Amino acid sequence: MNIAILGAGYVGLTAAAVFARIGHAVWLVDTSEEKIEKLLSGEIHFFEPRLAEIVKQAVEKGRLIPTTAYEKSVRKVRAILICVGTPPRPNGTADLSQVFSAAAELSKHIKRYTIIVIKSTVPIGTAEKVKKIIQKRVPKRLFDIASCPEFLREGSAVQDTLHPDRIIIGTDSRHAQKILLELHKKLSGERVFTDLRTAELIKYASNAFLATKISFINEIANLCEVVKANVDDVALGMGLDPRIGKAFLRAGIGYGGSCFPKDTRALNRVSIAHRYHFRLLKTVIEVNREQRKNFLKKLAPVLGKLKGKRIGVLGLAFKNNTDDVRESAAIEIIRELIKKGAKITAFDPKAGKNAKTALADLKITEKPEEVARDADGILILTEWSVFQKINWPYMKKKMRSPIIIDGRNLLDPKRMRALGFIYHSMGRP
Ligand code: NAD
Repeated sequence: MNIAILGAGYVGLTAAAVFARIGHAVWLVDTSEEKIEKLLSGEIHFFEPRLAEIVKQAVEKGRLIPTTAYEKSVRKVRAILICVGTPPRPNGTADLSQVFSAAAELSKHIKRYTIIVIKSTVPIGTAEKVKKIIQKRVPKRLFDIASCPEFLREGSAVQDTLHPDRIIIGTDSRHAQKILLELHKKLSGERVFTDLRTAELIKYASNAFLATKISFINEIANLCEVVKANVDDVALGMGLDPRIGKAFLRAGIGYGGSCFPKDTRALNRVSIAHRYHFRLLKTVIEVNREQRKNFLKKLAPVLGKLKGKRIGVLGLAFKNNTDDVRESAAIEIIRELIKKGAKITAFDPKAGKNAKTALADLKITEKPEEVARDADGILILTEWSVFQKINWPYMKKKMRSPIIIDGRNLLDPKRMRALGFIYHSMGRP
């Protein structure tokens, strides 16, 4: 099937590469010339495991055509997938300007029946607004609207897109439903057919629920510290119950990234706009904010006054296996430490460059071992598994004081203490 994808970010580029791989002919449109030029030369502008390789193959085979030109790309396709950004406004509502401008632009070029699919995460009622924008130029009979939200996780985006758990098809049109089934035919996952508004809410509800699990286990971790219990064992004991499940029960410094913080706040704003008081969600957001502060509170009793202290940081990305630092807890914590006068040296396997744009003066090292040099303490802020394999006895020799505060419960407390470290983590005795 000939399709066009608007937006070559994490979602759009991954969807484009995967749809090309399963046999569709894909136009990939982005307004950024820089990103498109990079794609044309066989490179991608962010780190995502396996993605660069399948993008390159698809571009070489001519199955994926990156472009900035709307006209030639959207004119002859059967479906147009909107995958542009929906960043948060300062008040928490979703900024839909990219979605609305993509809709206005594509509407100039539709000359035959096309399905417009919204994959971006958007507030309930957005698809109807997009429909109105397109209707200004395109007769009703020439298009249908659908909402197929995306659930990929950065760090495993290719795998998640090739093997989704479910594919949500929200549309009022039977014809559109049939074509979208055909588009997704070679992908796994249960199909859920519903209306536009429900499809939009499924995405927000899913992210809000996962954020709730994280805030819940963080509250349990805080309680563990008071009652002297071990959150890892609590999470294991809970997670083995299939009604609960093990995923997202890892205590730490809270969720970050470009989705959970933004989507929980946006859902809260949607609720407020409809005069619904979503108490649980508000608390989830608050607990997450507090958890970063709880981590910071752990530092002073162990490290003393932070002014002038040399602190090594391992991890800058909002999670492992990505270079994304959007709303990263690590960045926020480092910002606070710098404000308090601490001298930070940081390492991340992939996110160093992006962290530099968020914190221009941050000293970033090429190797994890370098953060240990004369350090008064080391903080672990992202759960990269490579940090478990570091030569910790060597690190200890390089440090001024052998203090580790592990915000991700990544290392084994017994082992670290046996190596002579003063080791603290989240909710573990
Ligand atoms: P992104 O910021 O990485 O990419 C968006 C892209 O859209 C950019 O490359 C930008 O240049 C381009 N763009 C902006 N306006 C455009 C226009 N008018 N026409 C064509 N291109 C345009 O965003 P992302 O992380 O890929 O997220 C996209 C959407 O998917 C968001 O709504 C997000 O919430 C949702 N989502 C993201 C993830 C994730 O893990 N990143 C997962 C699921 C859903």
